Amino acid sequence: MKEKMEFKTETKRLLDMMINSIYTHKEIFLRELISNASDAIDKRHYLSLTDSTKGSSEYQILVEADKENRTLTITDNGIGMTKEELIEHLGTIAKSGSKEFLEKIEKEKTPDVDIIGQFGVGFYSAFMVAKEISVYTKSVQDGSAHVFTSLGLDSYDIDECQMEDYGTKIVISLRENTEDITYDEYLDEYQIKELIKKYSDYVRYPIKTWVTKYDPKPEGEEEKEDQEERTHLELETINSMLPIWKKNKSEVTDEELNNFYKAKFMDYQDPISTIHVNVEGMLTYNALLFIPKKPIYDFNDRNERGLQLYTKGVFILDKCKDLIPEYLRFVKGLVDSADLPLNISREMLQEDRSIKKIATNVEKKILSDLGRMLKNDREKYEEFFNDYGVNLKFGLYEEYGAKKESLKDLIILSSLNEEKRISFAEYKEKMIEGQKEIYYAVGKDKEAVMKLPQMDLIKNKGFDVLILSDDVDEFMLQVLSEYDGVKFKSINQGDLDLIDEEAAKKIDSLKEEKKDILEDIKKTLPECKDVVFSKRLVDAPCCLTAAEGLSFEMERVLQAQHQGHGMKAERILEINPNHSVFQAIEKAYEKDKDSLGKYASLLYTQALLMEGILPSDPQEFSNSLCELMVNSVK
Ligand code: ADP
Repeated sequence: MKEKMEFKTETKRLLDMMINSIYTHKEIFLRELISNASDAIDKRHYLSLTDSTKGSSEYQILVEADKENRTLTITDNGIGMTKEELIEHLGTIAKSGSKEFLEKIEKEKTPDVDIIGQFGVGFYSAFMVAKEISVYTKSVQDGSAHVFTSLGLDSYDIDECQMEDYGTKIVISLRENTEDITYDEYLDEYQIKELIKKYSDYVRYPIKTWVTKYDPKPEGEEEKEDQEERTHLELETINSMLPIWKKNKSEVTDEELNNFYKAKFMDYQDPISTIHVNVEGMLTYNALLFIPKKPIYDFNDRNERGLQLYTKGVFILDKCKDLIPEYLRFVKGLVDSADLPLNISREMLQEDRSIKKIATNVEKKILSDLGRMLKNDREKYEEFFNDYGVNLKFGLYEEYGAKKESLKDLIILSSLNEEKRISFAEYKEKMIEGQKEIYYAVGKDKEAVMKLPQMDLIKNKGFDVLILSDDVDEFMLQVLSEYDGVKFKSINQGDLDLIDEEAAKKIDSLKEEKKDILEDIKKTLPECKDVVFSKRLVDAPCCLTAAEGLSFEMERVLQAQHQGHGMKAERILEINPNHSVFQAIEKAYEKDKDSLGKYASLLYTQALLMEGILPSDPQEFSNSLCELMVNSVK
């Protein structure tokens, strides 16, 4: 019984786009349908590995043109669809690529028509050329056969039907030709062959179409004028079927790889890097890995990590997590191994030794590719690092730095003295005489860091300072602790050792001399671990530093993540003894010891604010400040 159903709203929108599209490469619909057919055969084949009655001895995809009725038919003997699947897959948009496509065109008032081909919108793209589409399908799963028919408007019909073979047959009734577009070209034998070659050459199953063959002239017969009589049609396989990743590197062009990537991973831009691996020997496998130019939609979805896994050219698993470490989850691609059994299960994969070895190699290949990019194409690497650098930083930090040796030279950071980001090695190379450590400061940019009071002396000395702006940065440096024998040093933690011996001695003796006032200030500031005279300030009156260990930035990050269980960085108030503010406090202290608490608290709160930390009692701060202002004009 025929049932009429409504398309979902977003499907309608997409269909509307397709029907009214002025996109000039409408031909991509054939690529999309063939790719669906190939996926469907993959699925049937995979099913037959555990249930041989479900398989077929000869898989194929057939493309047939009927010039008289102006239809193009694509038939596969894949898994087919049940009625529910028809409704779910063709009545709704399942594919995230299509969703993203819709979002993109929604955002742009006048969408760039070119993006249709770039996103690859699947089955629906056929409505760019069709006035009506019928999908006949018989499911291997339940043996039922149904036909889906639609004009691509608001609704579609579903009915039962009779079919002999399992699989799906899609009949496209082409639109009428217009002045600008000849839809008839999709019925042209030569054109069909060209399109299959161009877009679907690597499909693993034979794609066949009827091809005109010229019969040899029979012996002794006169040359006839009408050639037609000496032709017949033969079914011919058009694609070479050799998966692109199995081809030798030298046989594949960059353009082919880029096209393959875009079609397979639904991106509309060429990848920033492509890594093609052919390994033969103890372990034989091919891998094709891509780094997308921009993170693609599933980038932040941890479940989406993984590479496609094939064994002997047969598709096994879409997202095999065991092939790629978490921190490289932005890498797209596939691995085809000859050493795995076809019926390997997900559980077995985790334990499999060849998978582990391949994963190690894949990781190495990616890192050495990045190393090469950093060396040979700095601009490209910087672009890469903008989007994915934070992943490498996490990779370095995670597992207690287990990967630090292979990752440390891939990190680049902004610095005070350099315009572009620099590596640790470059920093070290440019260290000036007298500099013993690699300095770093936390701040959102150069300007912010420049203003930090702790920078006074370092600036004067001309030392470069790495600027940390990602949350993970400081954790990463702590895991590293040193680079090539040179320690990392925060500009606001511990002793900086920047002033000469004489100046240091002077401050030490001053400290002795003013012991009482320092002690008394400390007493009024229970939050503070220590109050000292600073050896790093020049112009600023005071600053806050942290004792060795947890820094203020780490405290903030941990708190934001609800980790660290209230752990706090130990606060040290550093006072500039040469600043007039300290001299003023001293005077007040001599006159009236009880006034010290207020001044100390004001000084401390200022130091907190400069560190970007809010005082625990802002009202009190405000009150003391007002009181001070009022008194100063009395
Ligand atoms: P995509 O193929 O990217 O998922 P489509 O819109 O092209 O998006 O197809 C939606 C779904 O319809 C497919 O995922 C698949 O489940 C089903 N489908 C499409 N074509 C076929 C086919 N020839 N045989 C079996 N299922 C198909």
